[in-house]
Amino acid sequence: MRPLKVYNVIPRLPGELAPLWELAFNFWFSWKHEISELFSRIDYQLWHKSGQNPVKFLNLLPKETLEDLAGDEFFRDRLHQVKASLDNYKASTKTSFEFEKSGGEPVVAYFSAEYGISLSLPIYSGGLGVLAGDHLKSASDLNLPLVAVGMCYQNGYFRQYLTNDGWQQERYPVNDFEQMPLTLVRNKDGSPLTVQVDLVERKVSMRVWKANIGRIDLYLLDTNISENEPQDREITAQLYGGDWEMRIKQEIVLGIGGLRAMHAMDLNPRVIHMNEGHSAFAGLERIKLFMQDHGMSFEAATELVASSSVFTTHTPVPAGNDRFAPDLMHKYFEPYARELGLAFKVFMALGREDPRDDQEHFCMTVLALRLSRFNNGVSQLHGTVSRNMWKKVWPQYPVDDVPIGAITNGIHITTWIAPDMSYLFDRYLGSDWREDPDCQRVWKQSQAIPDSELWRTHERLRERLVDYVRYRLKEQTVARGGRRSELHLAEEALDPSALTIGFARRFATYKRANLLLTDVKRLLEIVNHEKYPVQFIFAGKAHPKDVEGKKIIQQIVQHAREADLSHRLVFLEDYDMEIASYMLQGCDVWLNNPKRPLEACGTSGMKAVANGVLNFSTLDGWWDEAYTTDNRYGWAIGMGESYSDQEYQDLVESHYLYNVLEKEIVPTFYDRRHGSLPTEWVRKMKNGLRDLAPQFSSHRMVEDYVETAYLPAYKNFMALEKNNFEKAKSLADWRMELMTKWGSVQIRNVRAAAEDELYAGDEITVSAEIDVNGLSTEDIQVEIYAGDVDMDGSFLSRKTVLMQQKKKLDDGWILYEGKLETFETGRFGYTVRILPYHSLLLDPHCLGLIHWA
Ligand SMILES: *Cc1c(COP(=O)(O)O)cnc(C)c1O
Repeated sequence: MRPLKVYNVIPRLPGELAPLWELAFNFWFSWKHEISELFSRIDYQLWHKSGQNPVKFLNLLPKETLEDLAGDEFFRDRLHQVKASLDNYKASTKTSFEFEKSGGEPVVAYFSAEYGISLSLPIYSGGLGVLAGDHLKSASDLNLPLVAVGMCYQNGYFRQYLTNDGWQQERYPVNDFEQMPLTLVRNKDGSPLTVQVDLVERKVSMRVWKANIGRIDLYLLDTNISENEPQDREITAQLYGGDWEMRIKQEIVLGIGGLRAMHAMDLNPRVIHMNEGHSAFAGLERIKLFMQDHGMSFEAATELVASSSVFTTHTPVPAGNDRFAPDLMHKYFEPYARELGLAFKVFMALGREDPRDDQEHFCMTVLALRLSRFNNGVSQLHGTVSRNMWKKVWPQYPVDDVPIGAITNGIHITTWIAPDMSYLFDRYLGSDWREDPDCQRVWKQSQAIPDSELWRTHERLRERLVDYVRYRLKEQTVARGGRRSELHLAEEALDPSALTIGFARRFATYKRANLLLTDVKRLLEIVNHEKYPVQFIFAGKAHPKDVEGKKIIQQIVQHAREADLSHRLVFLEDYDMEIASYMLQGCDVWLNNPKRPLEACGTSGMKAVANGVLNFSTLDGWWDEAYTTDNRYGWAIGMGESYSDQEYQDLVESHYLYNVLEKEIVPTFYDRRHGSLPTEWVRKMKNGLRDLAPQFSSHRMVEDYVETAYLPAYKNFMALEKNNFEKAKSLADWRMELMTKWGSVQIRNVRAAAEDELYAGDEITVSAEIDVNGLSTEDIQVEIYAGDVDMDGSFLSRKTVLMQQKKKLDDGWILYEGKLETFETGRFGYTVRILPYHSLLLDPHCLGLIHWA
């Protein structure tokens, strides 16, 4: 028997305590320690029992405690202080960005399938979500006019526990949104606001929950409402659960539903940012809306949408990019294609690398690339990898010119920093590091922190981590029904003063969590060294369908149960933001050994840096940028080589791992000749704080997005929108004309005034004759394309020089000239090419049109 209706009973807080609600309903508490501490100090046990969820916490507080607090003058003072700081924070209008004429309305809509904001909002699986959360927090701190959209998963991502033999099992606890810091978005008449999307001849409705992330509004879509058919209520049940059909439905809800929700709430973002391809249908929906509302052609609407869309790709693993089979697309998008006025084949081409291949699946990444003029990878190396990976979308282009750039990720420092460490920074860096975490000058002051103070603080954090590990191990042993002897082991696990190395992340196979176990005998020698012991903490989840990943977990757990390793190697179940915090704040070394170049960026190592934890990683993702060969900030595994033989690579790199550990890391850590401090180690900690903390901060990242993408995209939108979208229409017309005439543009007589042998630094004049054939010279730009050449005559590097129009020749051809400075020495070559040009075209490469001499 189920009840007819369920009510949530909310405690009546004494009036004096009313500000607690406001603090509870803003996720500012997830990066403002004063607030979470205000809660946890009321009742530490209950705070943890409620999963650090302040709403649930307040609901669970006994009446007597509330009355007690209401009568406590000191508590009331503290409460008002903290509440005043929230009010101040929300009221501040300080910003360094100028979005002209935006009138304070949100300009950018950020779309992401997951957000990792706080332990109490479990709608994330890993790095992508945590990055999105950090993006919003920095956007809030920087007062960026941004609004965000995601999904409110009833079960979130799965929770992990292990069987006795170490096999991963999944649980799906239900999120009670009413007991979370979320509010339902309502219409003026008080009824819940809903929006609908079409799913094969039926409509699916969704309601919208709002989360306050500091100053940023995050809207989360939820299809679990009684109007929907049971199977549609499941759409927002699980993050990355279900089959391909479930995935396409989710992405329709996120992209199309998300955009409709914006409009239903009278929000009119000018720029959209798709964080990964999951939300790329939003681009289609925007096109459709411009066509419907403003009578634009598909082409003009597409110009407008692409010119004001930003897309970030995160996945260098091909299988990680969503691809939908043609029949599945047909089922869900055939009517939609018609509404856009497109033949289905033409529609499908938007998501195909080769538009002519009818068998090719529809790829969300390709769609996003085609519907956005600002594309980027998430580290410099990943930018290069992405240009290679998606070069087929721009055939005829040298890979360097594929229009995908790079903005390296960053982390939100005040979220990830240990409170103890933050107080130390307050003392020596001033409070500026909180306000301006990407300022080099501020972090320079980290050099002034006395070595002993920094080291003692770090040691305390390691001890705290060891305590936490024991507590978690005990809990998981009890839950498993473990023996009493196992409980004893848990209570004594690890040594609070031993060199502690952490490894925690998703157990995707390319991350090779078991690389350390390649040679167990060698490992045993290292960890069980009499004077210089080493210990390891592992954590991480494998995707429920990833059997290989689960096997790796099992392998680690089985080793962790063996007598000669169990005191030196532990596996913590159910990796989440809390475990991440403890580990990233308390380990000495953060280990990462993905197979290069499959880690797009990897942000956990940046969190380590901010806490004075040293990195030890393959030269992949961000570490490829940060690492220096003098080991100033930490150590590398290998030198960034590529191997074709996977097994051989694992072998070579595991040897590297053991060698560096034994010969460099262990000795540096245990060198205590100077007043019992590891001086060289502390110097490396400080090097990282000084140089890397500001560089890999999410403030720097968000500022990069603003400068290279949001602002130009916004300006573009405003220019194209003026006079009833006049420029968008003319840009589309121009493009159509260009497409038809481009084929007849020609180049002849490319010449250089130079000898065959050149001296370094010589300047040569290159000339070429062009026939524009019906186009105008204003429609094109002519470039010298030059660079080093390898033995096959292919370009190894490139530089381009714009050529100037010199004169019109008698037969109508036009002479162009440009001056080129030669390179250092060696083989060097050049050619000439023609690209389209239009003042509103952001990137001459984005149209995919080019002529080579
Ligand atoms: C930071 C973080 C990640 C991402 O870390 P990677 O280095 O990309 O593996 C994943 N999960 C959690 C809980 C995190 O906090």
